[in-house]
Amino acid sequence: MHSLEQALEKILATALPLRPETVALADAFGRIAVAETTSPVNLPPTDNSSVDGYAVLADDLKTAGSQSPVALVLAGSSPAGVPFGGTLASGTCVRVFTGSVLPHLADAIVMQEDVKVLPDDPAKIQFFEPIKLWENIRFLGEDVRKEARLVGIYEKITAPRLGLLAAAGIEEVLCFRRPEVGLIATGGELREAGAPMEPGTIYESNRISLSALARQAGAAPKVFPLISDDLTATKRALEQAFAVCDAVVTTGGVSVGEMDWVRTAFTEIGGELDLWQVAMRPGKPFAFGRRAGKLFFGLPGNPVSAMVTFFLLVRPALLRLQGAQEVEPPRQRAVLAKELANPGDSRHFMRVTMDSSGRARPAGKQASHVLSATARSHGLVDVPPATTLPAGAVVEVLRWD
Ligand code: AMP
Ligand code: MG
Repeated sequence: MHSLEQALEKILATALPLRPETVALADAFGRIAVAETTSPVNLPPTDNSSVDGYAVLADDLKTAGSQSPVALVLAGSSPAGVPFGGTLASGTCVRVFTGSVLPHLADAIVMQEDVKVLPDDPAKIQFFEPIKLWENIRFLGEDVRKEARLVGIYEKITAPRLGLLAAAGIEEVLCFRRPEVGLIATGGELREAGAPMEPGTIYESNRISLSALARQAGAAPKVFPLISDDLTATKRALEQAFAVCDAVVTTGGVSVGEMDWVRTAFTEIGGELDLWQVAMRPGKPFAFGRRAGKLFFGLPGNPVSAMVTFFLLVRPALLRLQGAQEVEPPRQRAVLAKELANPGDSRHFMRVTMDSSGRARPAGKQASHVLSATARSHGLVDVPPATTLPAGAVVEVLRWD
């Protein structure tokens, strides 16, 4: 029997990043960059205006006052995307808009709210106060210098980073590949939705919840047909999944019953089992192994056990396959509003709900088949064996999201 930490260490030692691929920016969200991307351009690419207004020579407005306006001749206009072709001469101004290229020799922009245009003399603009040199001007390269780093190695392509890359005109980035993860559910009692619920049957629910957790972790889930508790069928399903996936996850059939064929099937198709059984609840009968460089996870069938073991042991591996350095679940501190009691002899990852003021309480019944409490829960609290965490205790919630 392994501790969760030992199991995770073993798994992460095996889960090496998949080969990189070049992806269009539109497909890069959430990926990890393999290489540094530098900027081929300056941002902004030119000096430009940060307001709608008038480009001037600051020197021309030195004597301007509220009672003694200075009038400048309007020499032209520079709408967005159309630079003013000429040079700004003393005594003149140029109409500009936010983002307009700074006209040649202009050294300040007066906001349009601060000027007056006389209806009978629209070619002359009235200015009522002096302006500081370079006021309302954004400078070439002040955001990003040409050749500066936009995204570093092993950095995640977040939404703001995508914006930065796009602004620099980057079209594609080299990222680690997303793993394809095969999901197989075993159990003679399992039925697809839509089938009549005959005595002894239940609707299968693990593949869909694990698909969602896989997607959340950036992996591409691939759902395989249901299989019954049969060695040949299990071997065939595993072989099919390993042929097309980077990792294969089964649920059910991995415990000690004589109908639990998953481990036998995996080793009979040439898989090497690295560990079986983790000292935790829910999820003790968890198996991990390798086959031809691909990862195998045998999860218990109980829906809560399957989700918890996926979250704590499979998710980190899927993230690592994508090159992520940070693979721990997101944590949030909370104060217990009600005690969490674990009378058992192994640590229990108990499902809790959290309110908006950061208080956590048990989400309901904690047995490993109770989906309703898990569905209400925001995350898990790791409660040591034979321990009651009292109300008021500060805990860390491992959040599903
Ligand atoms: P097993 O791990 O195969 O012994 O299954 C443990 C319990 O989980 C049994 O009550 C199964 O019916 C249930 N179970 C197994 N697989 C699934 C599944 N894919 N969806 C829903 N329940 C399942
Ligand atoms: Mg079963």
